[in-house]
Amino acid sequence: MRQDLIQRVVIVGGGTAGWMAAAALGKLLGRMPEMRIELVESAEIGTIGVGEATIPHIALFNTMLGIDEAEFVRATQATYKLGIEFVDWRRIGHRYVHPFGVYGLDMLGVEFHHFWLKARSLGATVPLDAYSIGASAGMRGRFTHPRPELPNSPLAKLGYAFQFDAALYATYLRNLAETLGVIRTEGRIVNVLRDANTGHVSAVRLEDGTDIAGDLFIDCSGFRGLLIEQAMGATFQDWTDWLPCDRAVAVPCALGGDRMPLTRSIARAAGWQWRIPLQHRIGNGYVYAGAFLSDDEAAATLLAHLDGPPLAEPRQLAFRAGHRDRAWIGNVVAIGLAGGFLEPLESTSIHLVQSGIGRLMALFPSKNFDAAEIDRFNRETAREYADIRDFLILHYKATERDDSAFWRRCRDLTPPDGLREKIAMFRANGRIFRDQHELFPEASWLAVMNGQGIEPQGYHPIADLLSDEETLKRLNHIAQVIDETANTMPLQDAYLRELGCQPAPLRRVS
Ligand SMILES: Cc1cc2nc3c(=O)[nH]c(=O)nc-3n(C[C@H](O)[C@H](O)[C@H](O)COP(=O)(O)OP(=O)(O)OC[C@H]3O[C@@H](n4cnc5c(N)ncnc54)[C@H](O)[C@@H]3O)c2cc1C
Repeated sequence: MRQDLIQRVVIVGGGTAGWMAAAALGKLLGRMPEMRIELVESAEIGTIGVGEATIPHIALFNTMLGIDEAEFVRATQATYKLGIEFVDWRRIGHRYVHPFGVYGLDMLGVEFHHFWLKARSLGATVPLDAYSIGASAGMRGRFTHPRPELPNSPLAKLGYAFQFDAALYATYLRNLAETLGVIRTEGRIVNVLRDANTGHVSAVRLEDGTDIAGDLFIDCSGFRGLLIEQAMGATFQDWTDWLPCDRAVAVPCALGGDRMPLTRSIARAAGWQWRIPLQHRIGNGYVYAGAFLSDDEAAATLLAHLDGPPLAEPRQLAFRAGHRDRAWIGNVVAIGLAGGFLEPLESTSIHLVQSGIGRLMALFPSKNFDAAEIDRFNRETAREYADIRDFLILHYKATERDDSAFWRRCRDLTPPDGLREKIAMFRANGRIFRDQHELFPEASWLAVMNGQGIEPQGYHPIADLLSDEETLKRLNHIAQVIDETANTMPLQDAYLRELGCQPAPLRRVS
């Protein structure tokens, strides 16, 4: 057996990040001899508690943990999510869906959307959403699981994620992690002790004087970055110039008239409002730029746009777009908000927790803490943040809105080089390239570039190998199959009931 094995892992923080890390480490490392995984959290400090919408990758995390999906959906009051509906983003009155999954059917080795662009040049007006089973079913409130065993059905490539109650999710993961042997300690950390020779963190000291020692520390302490920033001095890569929203106000409300399997994002004067329908309530929030809107105005706008009565006092949150230049320093690895934050426009934070855990497991260190491995972790983390950043900026940059100072500022911003190239290539000939390992697939870029109104001047020349008549015929057929398939899918509420859930009744919105 190696003599340099890590044997004590300490996770600082019991929010979504801390308990996701605890469950994953418990599952993957728990059986290693002498391994002790400990989590410290402080009820007095609390969690951020607002991360409720996810992307499809979370299913992989659940599978890795051996989670039974129906049980998980029941326990977290979850609903299914087929994508995000963007309202008023391109211009007031306009809406589109960014669905998970694919559009149409690739033909002649060329992506479907080139044929759609060609059809448009011939005068066809069917919107892109009609070629997505996710968008079509989502807008009708319908859901079923993908059917990969039916390769000719649009259901074969349906993509889905979850929307859940963040507090119930943390409880669910805590139960799981504790079953897997993770030890939980309640207490407020008041001091971080460091080894004088190595500079590594040796222990965290609690208010009652207890020291919790470790070989490896995972900082899941949220925005404050208790270990990574306050002890290890990590600096922050600040992207506020590109993503000016730096505040949010959140409030849950009673259910309204629908429970579509979509997260809704409604553009407002100085940012955007989220609406996440769950089984028992709706999660809402207004993400805004403090330079353009006061907290009181934001709260008043949010409260004026709820489906039902608020169920709690509105909660104000402040943040900065960006990430730690180094998420791993010495024996401290930051995961979750301690590592960085990008606004929840595409529901990516929980995924960043998941991918951070995945990277840590791939590079799980020995007590020697190899510098090259740490560099690799930090490079890949920074790249992942930058890729997501560019996708988010696209939503703001490509807009026709000029009705407020905020939107004029967004339209006028100079995008990062990679995004500029992506927009230019799409605008010229509808080309979309996904850089290596990039999180969002081509279909996502297509959804948002098209949805935000970037008009390609041309399309792939191979699309002309199909005659005009044949192109229109095939597209009509695809749209028809998707329409019919969407209509045969169960309503989400009926589907949830089949899983043993008891979604609360919807109420008529006045
Ligand atoms: C407005 C907003 C909306 C969001 N929406 C989404 C979304 O829709 N989808 C998504 O994927 N993500 C979303 N997120 C992000 C998501 O909420 C977080 O990524 C996720 O909750 C992880 O948070 P965390 O665990 O890193 O931090 P926190 O929840 O802040 O947890 C920090 C933990 O550290 C502990 N702690 C801190 N200091 C000490 C101390 N001194 N002693 C002991 N314990 C301590 C606290 O007690 C707590 O347990 C959103 C974030 C914001 C701000």
